[in-house]
Formats: sequence, C-alpha cells, structure tokens
Amino acid sequence: MAKSRYEYVKQFELDDSALPGTWMVVRIDGRGFHGFTDMHKFEKPNDLRAIHLMNRAALEVVGNIRDIIIAYGQSDEYSFVLPASSTLYSRRISKITSTIVSLFASNYTMHWAEYFPDTKLLVPPCFDARLVCYPTQRILRDYLSWRQADCHINNLYNTTFWAIVHSGKSEQEAEEKLRGTFSKDKNEILYSDFNINYNTLDAVYRKGSVIIRQETEVKSVSQKSGEEVIRLKRLPTVLHDDIIGNEFWKKHPELLV
Ligand code: ATP
Ligand code: ATP
Ligand code: MG
Ligand code: MG
Ligand code: MG
Ligand code: MG
Repeated sequence: MAKSRYEYVKQFELDDSALPGTWMVVRIDGRGFHGFTDMHKFEKPNDLRAIHLMNRAALEVVGNIRDIIIAYGQSDEYSFVLPASSTLYSRRISKITSTIVSLFASNYTMHWAEYFPDTKLLVPPCFDARLVCYPTQRILRDYLSWRQADCHINNLYNTTFWAIVHSGKSEQEAEEKLRGTFSKDKNEILYSDFNINYNTLDAVYRKGSVIIRQETEVKSVSQKSGEEVIRLKRLPTVLHDDIIGNEFWKKHPELLV
C-alpha cells in the first residue's frame, strides 16, 4: 500500500522491548475490587465463585498464549510468567501486557454469569497490568514466593477478621482486636474463640492457585472406527500447591529451563 505523508509519525513510537534473556512476568490486578466485591456481595473472607472465575479467566489466557509457562493467582490478582527464551511479539512490553490484561478482563466478563448465575454484573470489571523482567531463576522463584506469602498473610488476617465480625462484632472492633497481632496470635484467636484450625482450611484459600500445563487424559471418539480413544494432552490445569518450597519445582523441572 502506498505510504501517506503522515507515515513519519510512526517514528515517535519508541522501542519498548523487554531485556533479552530475562523472565517476563505480567501481573494483573482488579481495579477498585474492594468496592467491586462489596457491590456484588462477595462472601467474606473468600467467595469461592469469584476465585473460580479468576481461575477460569486465567486458564483461558494460558490456553490462548502458548508462551506462558506458569501463572499464579490470589485475591484479585494473577501473575503470568513468560520464559527468558520467549520471543512473543518481539518481547514488546506494551503489546504483551495489553494483550494479556485485555484477554483476562474480557474472559472475566464473558464467563461471569457461569459463576454468578444469580448476580447481575453491575459495572464493567477493570484490571491494571505491569510487566517486570527478572534476570535469574532464583529471583523469579522469589517473586512467586512473595505473592504466595502475601496470599498467606492476607488470608490469615481476613479469615480472623471475618470470623470476629461474623460472631457479632463490628468491623472496627475486629480491626482493633487484630491491631499489632502476629501470625501466632491470629492462629490462637481462630483456634480458641472459633474452633478453627487454620492449617486445615482448604488449600485454595491458603495457597492461592497455580496454573501449569499438565498431561491430562482426553477422551474422544475416533471418526474412523467410532471407538473411544484416550489421548494425553498437555492442558492448563489449576493446582493449589505450595510454590515456596523446593518440592513443587523438583516435581516440575521443565518449568525453570
Ligand atoms: P486497587 O485498584 O488499588 O487494586 P483494590 O480495591 O482492588 O484497589 P486490592 O488491594 O487489590 O485493592 O484488594 C482486592 C480486594 O478484593 C480486597 O478487598 C479483597 O478482600 C477483595 N477480594 C478479592 N478476591 C476476593 C474473593 N474471592 N472473595 C472476597 N473478596 C475478594
Ligand atoms: P493484529 O492482531 O496484528 O492487529 P488484525 O487481524 O487485527 O491483526 P489489523 O491490521 O488490526 O489486523 O486489521 C483489522 C482487521 O479488522 C482488518 O481486516 C479490517 O478490515 C477489519 N475490520 C475492522 N473494523 C471493521 C469493521 N467495522 N467492519 C469490517 N471489518 C473491520
Ligand atoms: Mg493495588
Ligand atoms: Mg485490586
Ligand atoms: Mg489486589
Ligand atoms: Mg488488530
């Protein structure tokens, strides 16, 4: 196509390619979800429907963008990891970030009604996103450990906070009771006041969600013979494993190459 005399403005688009040979992590986070969760009457501390919807949107992103090797989600955030060798969109930061966040938000919206059949979506959900490059495996693992530790700290606080509120105290009273407490104090309050052993709560709440591609048996019917055949396919799968310790990484050595 002939070039117009306006074509020169293209030169103003600066190069924003991510540093080569580094892990790229895109983290998306719900905008104003404190209000969003109130407005849609999410159960507190954890609305399982909302966790499943976040996971569904993330599964669609991982299924759509083949370069993503692992994703980790908790609360209203999800991190998507692209390996150092990835050449997706020539590693252009804005292109990668905007594609991932837009896919996530549209899937969250598109699948809302499957997870919230009785709750009308009142405002368009919105997510921000950033891309950060991490130079080594160790730092990448520390990044993921940081997010899972954050999940643990917030979930322990929220679980205790809402147990106090649901027992008839005001939110202000609950906040005062928890001010300055350590983890062991919250565990103790949960155990002695509410008979809750924190460590036995479902891992989906304590550990958040990890998505990796796992070999999964997929059944289909052969068109030729009409017989049922079982194939192994690598499908994005949600786990609630600990990713801070070494065990997970020993079990999945392919993730860090
Ligand atoms: P910002 O726009 O700065 O991110 P925010 O209001 O989204 O502001 P966050 O720190 O991201 O602030 O907090 C997310 C909020 O969403 C928290 O209040 C958290 O409790 C709530 N939330 C996220 N997921 C769930 C869930 N599954 N069930 C109940 N509440 C949830
Ligand atoms: P990329 O992902 O690289 O952007 P693309 O297929 O979106 O690939 P574009 O150059 O953005 O490529 O082209 C947009 C396409 O959408 C064109 O084929 C254009 O004709 C089509 N299109 C956009 N708007 C309309 C419309 N209102 N009616 C019909 N076709 C449209
Ligand atoms: Mg925030
Ligand atoms: Mg948020
Ligand atoms: Mg958040
Ligand atoms: Mg286009």
